[in-house]
Order: sequence, then C-alpha cells, then structure tokens
Amino acid sequence: MKTVTSDSVELSAQQRLVRDSIRDICDDFDHEYWRQKDKDGEYPSEFVDELGAHGWFGVLIPEEYGGAGMGTPEVVVMMEEIAAAGGGFSAAQAIHGGIYNSVPIVRYGSEEMKEELLPSVANGDTAIQSFGLTEPNAGSDSTSIETFAKKQGDEYVINGQKIWTSRVDASDYIVLVARTTPKSEVEKRTRGISMFLVDIDEAVSEGSLEMKAIPKSASNAVHAYELWFEDLRLSADRLIGEEGNGFYQVLDGLNEERLVIAAECIGLGELAIQRGVDYANERVVFGRPIGQNQAIQHPLAKAYAELQAAKMLTYNAAAVVDEDTGAAVGAQANMAKYLAAEAAFAAADAAVQAHGGFGVATEYDVERYFREARLTRLVPITQELVLNYLGEKVLGLPRSY
Ligand SMILES: Cc1cc2nc3c(=O)[nH]c(=O)nc-3n(C[C@H](O)[C@H](O)[C@H](O)COP(=O)(O)OP(=O)(O)OC[C@H]3O[C@@H](n4cnc5c(N)ncnc54)[C@H](O)[C@@H]3O)c2cc1C
Repeated sequence: MKTVTSDSVELSAQQRLVRDSIRDICDDFDHEYWRQKDKDGEYPSEFVDELGAHGWFGVLIPEEYGGAGMGTPEVVVMMEEIAAAGGGFSAAQAIHGGIYNSVPIVRYGSEEMKEELLPSVANGDTAIQSFGLTEPNAGSDSTSIETFAKKQGDEYVINGQKIWTSRVDASDYIVLVARTTPKSEVEKRTRGISMFLVDIDEAVSEGSLEMKAIPKSASNAVHAYELWFEDLRLSADRLIGEEGNGFYQVLDGLNEERLVIAAECIGLGELAIQRGVDYANERVVFGRPIGQNQAIQHPLAKAYAELQAAKMLTYNAAAVVDEDTGAAVGAQANMAKYLAAEAAFAAADAAVQAHGGFGVATEYDVERYFREARLTRLVPITQELVLNYLGEKVLGLPRSY
C-alpha cells in the first residue's frame, strides 16, 4: 500500500482525472508482473495494449484526429504515475516512444500522413514506438550521423546503420533520422538532416533492414536494437516535414520531452522510496525496526526531499512549456531532467542499502530500480550533455560540445 505521499504540487482537476484513470489501469499490474517481465526480458505487451485500448497513445494527438488533445501538464502526471505504481522506468520506457513519436507527424506531417496514421495510433491499432537517431559514431554528437537518404526520382534510397533503437520489436514504424546532405556540404552541421517514416515489416520483408537486439542489463523488458539499412527505397511522401530541416524538428518539442523524462525519474524514485520505507518499517534487527536508525532514515529522507524539489521544478515548467516561453523553459527542462535523474538514483541507492543483502535479491525489486535509475543518467541524453547545455546557454560559458 502507498504510504509515502508525493503532494508537493497541487494538481488541476484534469491532472487528477489523468492520475486516477492511469492508477486504475496500473492496479492490474502488480510487482510480480514487472519482476517477471524484467526476469524474462519480455516486453510488457499486456500493459501496453491496455493503455492503447484506453486511448492513451493519443494523449498528445489533437482531437480532430481522434486523440485526447492534451499536453505536457497531463503527460507528466501520466508518466510519473505509471513509474510510481510499480512499473518503474521500464514501464515508462515501454510506452514513451509510442506517445512522442507521433508528435513530429502532428507538427510536420502531410495531411495525408496525419489522416492515415494519427487516428490509428490514438485508438491503439498502430504503434510508432521507435525513433532512430543514434549511430555507432554519433551518440551525444548527433549531427555526426552518417545514415544517408539519397533522392532518386520520387524515392529516397537509404543506407546506413543505427544503434540503440528501442522497441523495434513492438512497433509498426520507425521515425528515422538521416542525412540528406553530407555534413561537409552544409553551412551549419544541424542542416541537411531529414526525418522519415519507415514501415518496419515492409523494410524487413524487402531485405533492406536487418536488426539485432543489443544484450544489456537495465530495463530488460524493453529491447534496443542495432539496425542496418541497405538500399531501403522509400516513397518521397514518407519524408516527415521539410527536407534538410529534420534536426530542427527533433529539437522542437525537446523541452516537453525532457520534462516527461524527469517525471518518469520522479515516479521511479517515489517507488524506490516507498519500497525502502516499507522494508525499513518491517525488518527488525537488534530488537528494533531498522527504520529507527538514522543511517537508514536519512538517505531515504534526503532522496525524498530531492525528488520533491525536482517534482516542483518539473511541474512548474510543464505548466508553461506548451506556451513556448523560450530559453527560460529550456533551462528548467534541462535542470529538471538532471535533478530528477540524480534524485531517482539516490532514492534507488538508499532503498537497496535499506534492504541489506536483500537489496540485490530480485524478489524485492529494488535492485531493478537501481539498474533503471542508473540508466536515467544516460538516456535519452547523458547528464554531462545536460550540464553542457546549462554551462553554455545559462551560464554563458564557452560551448564545449
Ligand atoms: C537503453 C537505451 C535505449 C536507447 N534508446 C534510443 C532510441 O530509442 N533511439 C535513439 O536514437 N537512441 C537511443 N539511445 C541512445 C542514447 O540516446 C545514447 O546512448 C546517448 O545519447 C549517449 O550517446 P552515446 O551512448 O554514444 O555516448 P557518447 O556520446 O559516446 O558519450 C560517452 C560519454 O562521454 C560523455 N561525453 C561525450 N561528449 C562530451 C562532452 N562534450 N562533454 C562532456 N561529456 C561528454 C557522455 O556524457 C558520456 O558519458 C538509447 C540508449 C540506451 C542505453
């Protein structure tokens, strides 16, 4: 039972509605469900299907295309709740792409593309879960991507390699980012990059896409892939938005997404603290509950305070980010991601320590939260790159990346 409250921000009526609806769905997926998924390395499709059936993949899709037409203030509540209810960062990761990858289509897709896909995403029939940007030689330095889409008549021919593309096994499409002009020929490295929609089954059956899952140790239920594209022919109408403008399309909406990632970290941290507190109250050593010892209390209390601070920052920024208030929101979104990931890590670490030896026993789940919390310091952007942004854009220090 949830005994640790997390009410440092006041929710609007709409946010309370979102929280309660999501909580109802999550109640059917207990700790055992998530533990088993992690152990078996199996995608949580029952959970994802349930969310899809209730229309949650359309949360950001405008109502005219069958979506809910909500915004960041609602999605932060949704994702915090999903993580906090027991799913942790894995559950959030299992669906994050499915919600965000339709945003470029909403903003930049042609009317035909919108009508073809958005209603079907919103009702859970079509999954656009995958986003392929990172390459073996282009992670943090994402404008160095080499995957190339060459225009030939009314087609693009795509060749290249991607790495760490998540959920390809649970998706109908990949939103693929590729160069359409070589980096050496553009004025600015952010130019000459474009965004495409790739039908996964079609590309595989034509023999132009090969994929291999990457063995890894965090969020085992959500798989990430290495992809090889060889002469993949895409009709020109699969271009999303404007040719050469794809990097700007990626950047647009990044603050919103950072805040939602922060909310996922906060939910994971809350979950870890709850489990740490439960165990600290139950476990008796030297004739008293271990939670009576300040060595156990303080790390949990400190992480709680840090999580609540990150939550206030996240929700405050979420309330204004959709109005695009410029640089100040960029700073807040980056700070929120940084602080929330650090707080989640501190919370998971304190929960593991409170469990003693059982901290590494899978049956108590906290070792899973710890692995996931560690991952939040790496994805979708590393903590260092967030600090680079703050150093340059907020403090006015020389650009370092
Ligand atoms: C589980 C998982 C799922 C992922 N899913 C996706 C996905 O669906 N789609 C996708 O496109 N990508 C995905 N990624 C990729 C992820 O976005 C990258 O791993 C991340 O951006 C870092 O890139 P990199 O791994 O190449 O690290 P690198 O860029 O090689 O960096 C290595 C280290 O050096 C540091 N560093 C590098 N340059 C600087 C600098 N200038 N200043 C300070 N520090 C620096 C970094 O912070 C990092 O600690 C995923 C990754 C993981 C692990």
